[in-house]
Amino acid sequence: MAAYYNDNTIIYFNGEFVKASEAKTDLYSQSLHYGYAVFEGIRSYPVNGGTKMFKGKEHYDRLRRSAEVTRIPFSYTTEQLVELTYETLRRNNLTDAYVRPIVLCSPNMSLSKGQISYLAIECWEWTNGYMSNQMKIMTSSYRRPNADAFHVDAKVSGHYVNSILACQEAKDKGYDEALVLDCNGFVAESSGANIFYEENGVLYTAPKGHILPGITRATVLEICGELNIPVIEKFFTTDEMRGADAGFFCGTAAEVVALSSLDDVPFKKNWEDSLSYLIQQAYRCKVMEKPFRLKEEVA
Ligand code: PMP
Repeated sequence: MAAYYNDNTIIYFNGEFVKASEAKTDLYSQSLHYGYAVFEGIRSYPVNGGTKMFKGKEHYDRLRRSAEVTRIPFSYTTEQLVELTYETLRRNNLTDAYVRPIVLCSPNMSLSKGQISYLAIECWEWTNGYMSNQMKIMTSSYRRPNADAFHVDAKVSGHYVNSILACQEAKDKGYDEALVLDCNGFVAESSGANIFYEENGVLYTAPKGHILPGITRATVLEICGELNIPVIEKFFTTDEMRGADAGFFCGTAAEVVALSSLDDVPFKKNWEDSLSYLIQQAYRCKVMEKPFRLKEEVA
C-alpha cells in the first residue's frame, strides 16, 4: 500500500496548513455518506530546476466547475488554489508529485445542496511507473454512469464507485484495467483515464458527452495538431477498436499508457512503431517543458 503521508506531512485544510496526521473531518457529512464531494488529480514535475504543475489552471478551473454543477459552495479563485498548492508542495519539499485537492461538505444528513465546504490539498511523491509498461485490458461488464443521471463531465467523488467496480472486476480476471462502455454501448473511457486507438495513421477517441473529458485528452489533441496526426472524435464500438494498430489510455496520473491487447486481441503494431508512441514521447516532453523533435526517419 502506498504511503500517502507520514508524521511530517503537511496538508492545506480549511484555511491553514496542518499535519496530515492531525487533521480531522467528521462522520456526519454528505461527502462521506453520499459521495458528495468534488476533487482533482494534478501532477507536478521537476522543470528547469524548479517545481511546475502541469496545467494547474485547467485543473482548478475544472474543480470550480465541478463544485458549481453539483451545487457545492466554493469560493476560492483558480489563482488562490494554484498558489496554495505550490505552498503545500514547498512545505513538503516535493517536486515530482501528485496533488489531490478535495472539496468536502459540512455535517448534514439531508439531501439538500451543500451548505459549507472545506478544501483539503494533499500531495505525495509520484514518479511515473506506467510509461514502460503495456496494459492488457478487457471490456467491463459495468457501464459508465448515464449522463442523464450525473454530471459525468465533473469530477465527483461518488462517480468513482463505478470506477472501482470496473477496475476491480478487470483485476480479478487477470487484466490490468477496464475499458468501460457508455450507456449506449459505445467505448467511453477506462476507470480513470481517457482512451484512444490508432488505425491506418488516424487516431480515434470518444467525443464529449459520456466521458470525463480529460485535460490529458485535450493535450493529446493539441499534440496531434502539432505533429499533424489526424484525429477523429466519434462514437465507436469495441469491435472497431479490437485488433487496431495501437491504443492507449491517457490521464494525469497515468500520462500516456500503451495498451497491449483488448479482450485478449493484441494491437497489431509494435508500440515503438506507432504514432501513439510519438504522442507518448511528445507528452513527456510537454510536461517537462522540453522541446520534442521528430526523428528524421519518422518525420
Ligand atoms: N476519465 C476518468 C474517469 C478519470 O478519472 C480521469 C482522471 N482524472 C480521466 C478520464 C482523465 O482526466 P485527466 O486527463 O484530466 O486527468
